[in-house]
Amino acid sequence: MSTNPRYAMVIDLRKCVGCHACSITCKMENDVPEGHFRSWVVEADVGVYPNVTRAKLPRLCNQCDEAPCATVCPVVATKKNENGIVTVDKDKCIGCRYCIAACPYDARYLDPETGIADKCDFCFDRVESGLMPACVSTCIAHSRIFGDLNDPNSEVSKLLSENSIQTLNPEYGTKSKVYYIGLDKVFATPDFQILRDKEAN
Ligand code: SF4
Ligand code: SF4
Repeated sequence: MSTNPRYAMVIDLRKCVGCHACSITCKMENDVPEGHFRSWVVEADVGVYPNVTRAKLPRLCNQCDEAPCATVCPVVATKKNENGIVTVDKDKCIGCRYCIAACPYDARYLDPETGIADKCDFCFDRVESGLMPACVSTCIAHSRIFGDLNDPNSEVSKLLSENSIQTLNPEYGTKSKVYYIGLDKVFATPDFQILRDKEAN
């Protein structure tokens, strides 16, 4: 760990088995209301029989370095922290939904009970305590890897330097810190292209 950590996640799509353990543990850890998710897995059948496979795409807030949700927040409730994690100050959020409209990844929701526009924060409190985000701890396939980009010896740094890495919709210019291995293969299929476009809109 470096003295000034900058956190990121790598999702290795070659390993994901689509068990949804990440989505379930996230809901439990963060008390996410019914009908909403901070972390979820998109799935689609791809190919033509008999060469058919099931593609999986785990999703979450991308902790954007250039986060449009933070830019539009009129009360600075959403902000990017020094460690790179974009957080929501529950005491400041007024539920105006500007951030929900501004996020091009559909990663935020309005909590119907609290009126707060919430989202994944890499389990900020767990990370501050030295723990992994809940989804990373639960991932049975070690598909989700979390760590410090500023530490050249961290697993995320090594994966980024040793593999071909992609982010979701880099054309948005948000500088995502959720990196995928194998995204090109998943998106190379027409079915998932449609799904990606649907997810992005
Ligand atoms: S993915 Fe959406 S909610 Fe997350 S930091 Fe980027 S713009 Fe904000
Ligand atoms: S827990 Fe891991 S293997 Fe299971 S769906 Fe999530 S990312 Fe994929």
